[in-house]
Amino acid sequence: MAERAQCKYFEACELLEDTRVGDDLYCVLHLPPGPAKDVQKFGQVVADYLAKGRSDFRWVYFPTESPSFQGRRFQEAVDFRGASFGGMLNLTDTTFDRGVFLGGPEFRNVDLSRARVRGPLRVEGRISNTLRLHQAVLENLAEVRVDDRIHVQAYAARFDGKLSVHAQVIGSLELQDASLRHGLSLRGRYESTPGVRFERARIEGDLDFRECDLDLHLAFNEAVFDPNSTLDLEGARVHGTFVLAGLPVIPRRFGSMEQGSIKPPVSRPLLARRDRESSRRRSGHFLAGL
Ligand SMILES: [Zn+2]
Repeated sequence: MAERAQCKYFEACELLEDTRVGDDLYCVLHLPPGPAKDVQKFGQVVADYLAKGRSDFRWVYFPTESPSFQGRRFQEAVDFRGASFGGMLNLTDTTFDRGVFLGGPEFRNVDLSRARVRGPLRVEGRISNTLRLHQAVLENLAEVRVDDRIHVQAYAARFDGKLSVHAQVIGSLELQDASLRHGLSLRGRYESTPGVRFERARIEGDLDFRECDLDLHLAFNEAVFDPNSTLDLEGARVHGTFVLAGLPVIPRRFGSMEQGSIKPPVSRPLLARRDRESSRRRSGHFLAGL
């Protein structure tokens, strides 16, 4: 029997050739979709791979619509960059002792609901639609830097590190009941209603919305802020109604407001010296663009 050569993506899989396509050699994980892709064998190889503690899934072509790793614990960094699948990657209830890397030209949706991520979560390049993080616990940085549209759904999630969502278009950002302990950085155009959902969220650290294009109703109703937080809107454009209802944070800088100007109440800087409880009780607000 002839000796098998390395898979084209050996640096990721460390597997040997299984199928030849033209001049390229592939293992069963990296073989592109087609009749030669043996789904049963793929499942067996993935099971062996996981049993050896492997977690590098870069450039893998998953033959199933929604590959599932639900409930699994990964002790090493997990890398799905460049992986391809048709629907939603199921990483619900999963524990990641180290980081998670997601994104790529064929990357679809991913569900990390109720996952616990002890290292950084990084989403790079592209994700075609939804990053779901409902009730997830992210103990480190959560950085989303994508070059197209993204929806982030993080109802009741806990972010111990800073959350950054930098995208060309932010389709939605749902942070109801979420806890953000080191602030939020947004970049990009936010165009859908009802806007960023902060209901009942607890927010510590600074809100950095510089250069954002906010075509929405920006409201912080019911959110609980740290009294020392600041809101930075330098260079931002707000096209719709902007309501700082119940917001004790200090607006530090404002960008251009296309419909009317925003004038924070003169007493607002004093809020920095108020104690947390009195700030929370305060329900001062101002409106623009009405
Ligand atoms: Zn391979």
